[in-house]
Amino acid sequence: MANSTQQSSLTVYLRLLRYVLPYWGLFAISLAGFLIFASTQPMLGYMLKFFVDGLNNPEASFFGQVPYLQEHSWLAELKLLQAVPLLIIFIALMQGIGSFLGNFFLAKVSLGLVHDLRLALFNNMLTLPNRYFDSHNSGHLISRITYNVTMVTGAATDAIKVVVREGMTVIFLFATLLWMNWKLTLVMLAILPVIGFMVSSASKKFRKQSKKIQLAMGDVTHVASETIQGYRVVRSFGGEPYERDRFQAASSENTAKQLRMVKTNAVYTPSLQLVIYSAMAVLMFLVLLLRGDASAGDLVAYITLAGLLPKPIRQLSEVSSTIQKGVAGAESIFEQLDEEPEVDRGTLEREAVSGHLEVRNLDFVYPGTDKRVLHDISFTIEPGQMVALVGRSGSGKSTLANLIPRFYHHEAGQILLDGADVESYTLRNLRRHIALVTQQVTLFNDTVANNIAYGDLAGAPLDDIRRAARDAYADEFIEQMPEGYQTRVGENGVLLSGGQRQRLAIARALLKNSPVLILDEATSALDTESERHIQGALDHVMQGRTTLVIAHRLSTIEKADQILVMEQGRIVERGTHAELLAANGAYARLHATQFKDEVPEEQES
Ligand code: ATP
Ligand code: MG
Repeated sequence: MANSTQQSSLTVYLRLLRYVLPYWGLFAISLAGFLIFASTQPMLGYMLKFFVDGLNNPEASFFGQVPYLQEHSWLAELKLLQAVPLLIIFIALMQGIGSFLGNFFLAKVSLGLVHDLRLALFNNMLTLPNRYFDSHNSGHLISRITYNVTMVTGAATDAIKVVVREGMTVIFLFATLLWMNWKLTLVMLAILPVIGFMVSSASKKFRKQSKKIQLAMGDVTHVASETIQGYRVVRSFGGEPYERDRFQAASSENTAKQLRMVKTNAVYTPSLQLVIYSAMAVLMFLVLLLRGDASAGDLVAYITLAGLLPKPIRQLSEVSSTIQKGVAGAESIFEQLDEEPEVDRGTLEREAVSGHLEVRNLDFVYPGTDKRVLHDISFTIEPGQMVALVGRSGSGKSTLANLIPRFYHHEAGQILLDGADVESYTLRNLRRHIALVTQQVTLFNDTVANNIAYGDLAGAPLDDIRRAARDAYADEFIEQMPEGYQTRVGENGVLLSGGQRQRLAIARALLKNSPVLILDEATSALDTESERHIQGALDHVMQGRTTLVIAHRLSTIEKADQILVMEQGRIVERGTHAELLAANGAYARLHATQFKDEVPEEQES
């Protein structure tokens, strides 16, 4: 079990490293920098030997022990008095250069990696099927893009930096120590396994906790964003205490988990240090015991160098936690990247379609649920016809509308556009032929013009935008806005009324000018006056266009070529307005209840 999770985190880590691959050049420079940095550490310590020896005899030659130099070079003249300070500055300079190269180029790599992963996640998100968004909350999706990504790069780059920089430091230090006094150094080596054991036991704990923290992090974002988006509902329904408690719970859970992680870390680091300093105590004892014929300078340098060891070793031991954190983050990133994109196996691409729409024996169950939402739906819309869907809330009208542009995949039955199954079209081509006004209007925080001319329509000439707005009866209110078509509408169009938002959405659909138009209750939020104008506009734009209208206001669909009455996922009645009234069934009942409400309107006209 433990082995298999290790195996899989190795796979995850290797996969993560693949993202570093394009940056190998920069990465190599950075590693070289760290290598230089690492090599200067023992050199600095070693200078102490010369310094302490120089205390006794500053005039001694620096290269006194190098025979060749002594006879043939000006270097022989170099005395400890000058050489020690000069070399220290030189070494410090090397260290600076090494550290700059290392850190700067590593930052380039890791920031590039953040960028790449963010793009990968975001672009992948654009391809995910609707059901993915139904079953994953937006807080988690967003925190994955903002938070996990940075965490992951820590593992991919910082961890490697530590391994190289501190690893090389340890190796250089050890080599120097071995060279200075191998007996002593071998004794030190015996302590390493103890440290190794502590590292592995703590890193397991870390991994578990960091995954939990990431989930808790998402909850905080999720609760906050829900409350922010739904602040009107929260206020008008007195949801403040509930939201306050919910956020407090999410936040304190987050705090508790973070604290627990810090605690593990806080216990772990000092105990490791204790081990190391006990080792140092033993070392001091041994140094005094085994000093042999070493000079005072040798001993000072040896102890200093040995004293430099714990820090890099500790950092190396902490690397595993950085890596584990990153691996936990990467797992959830890859989970999303591995998610099946919207199924798009169709190959058919048609430049234009006439808009003949046929639905045959369509059954539908939302993925992940077992309630059948649509039962054996069949109907045909001839090009240019208007068909209306009416029925109680929850009867499956929006669901049916969503299946035509293939927002969900249906298993049973067929939807044919111009005689070809919608599944056989490529998604992009299919959706080009269909304009959809959804029940929940979505506007972007941009200008009115850009909201109408969105996506494929971007860059449409202003004249066309105006015409679409006029047809949707939106131009009047747009002209009255401070900057007309260039007015920004605020986040999701908060600066507009419900009816105005709907008219913008209709204008967007009209500008698309596609042969199939689906309006999901597009007129429900309109006042009678606007509704009548839109009605006129629709009569106009529906010509030569196949239209499926889902309406709650039956007055808007009296002219429909066919009205389908839905009840609990079935079509229970069909016919024209007059036929259905005459039949005196479900439609007549619906109509009677509405007719009562709409008496004043009827009289008006
Ligand atoms: P309304 O008139 O209120 O808009 P509707 O006729 O459009 O209602 P649908 O939105 O099609 O109704 O919903 C039909 C059924 O499908 C409902 O029972 C609903 O609970 C269920 N449903 C809708 N969307 C989903 C979804 N994304 N996942 C699972 N079930 C869903
Ligand atoms: Mg609906």
